[in-house]
Amino acid sequence: IDIIRRSIQERRFRVWYQPIYCCHDDIFCSAEALLRLNDYEGKPIPPDVFIPLAEETGMIGELTWIVLEEICRLLSSGQVPGLKTVSLNLSMQQLLDPGLADRIQRYLTEYQLSPDCLKVEITERFLLHDVLYAKRQLASLTAIGIQIYMDDFGTGYSNLSSVLDYPFAFIKLDRSLVIHVPEDHRAELMLRTLLTLFHSLGKRVVVEGVESKALADYLKHCGSDMIQGFYYAAPMAKEELIAFFSQKNHPENRKMDA
Ligand code: C2E
Ligand code: MG
Ligand code: MG
Repeated sequence: IDIIRRSIQERRFRVWYQPIYCCHDDIFCSAEALLRLNDYEGKPIPPDVFIPLAEETGMIGELTWIVLEEICRLLSSGQVPGLKTVSLNLSMQQLLDPGLADRIQRYLTEYQLSPDCLKVEITERFLLHDVLYAKRQLASLTAIGIQIYMDDFGTGYSNLSSVLDYPFAFIKLDRSLVIHVPEDHRAELMLRTLLTLFHSLGKRVVVEGVESKALADYLKHCGSDMIQGFYYAAPMAKEELIAFFSQKNHPENRKMDA
């Protein structure tokens, strides 16, 4: 907790980005912003360790604005060829902040960005006592034009009733759901059924944690909208992201890949 507090003051947090591949356009068009922090010996502290602590101590709010500001800087710089959208992870707890939508809108206005270039990812790590209030908050985000992703579908935190309860435009399928695809016939059947279900509900699907070519090819074939995972790229610093998108989205390289 002390490291988190000091690191906010000393601006030691870094924002990395993981490229997301868009199957329909056959191009990398998006990225997820992910926080990074090293301890004072230079050893990385995993987000799964510092994010829950930041949530418990209320520091997650400040961290979110650091990430949003970096995203806005990146998008408004126009330095990343083909990058149309970036997603920001929000804790369910932050949905209790009545000023959330206004504050996000202020950043977008300041950086002259259209709301459709920012996506918000939500996972239900916290049981919300006030579902109606959370719904209103998400509605206020969609009202200003920001689309919402349900993160980590299939992990126990993100479930089917929430798909109906909240206005998600995208569902991100957790890696645990696809880890045995395509070898395991039952896992394959579940994936195809989920894709059909979500598409019928008017949602688009991102599959996370894709580590192999076999799985990426299978996902393209069965109608996944977007793919994210180490097969394509791990999270990376901004400079590497610029180089990655410049190389992968270059028309000559895309022709060669095809
Ligand atoms: P997440 O939002 O589900 O982010 C995806 C996580 O999966 C990232 O872990 C990413 O590095 C990892 N990942 C991506 N592709 C693969 C793959 O092919 N295989 C495997 N095994 N893993 C893959 P990371 O960066 O350690 O973040 C963990 C979690 O911490 C995130 O899960 C998110 O819930 C949280 N987090 C990270 N940054 C933020 C933030 O700025 N705000 C909030 N509220 N939470 C954040
Ligand atoms: Mg996420
Ligand atoms: Mg996720």
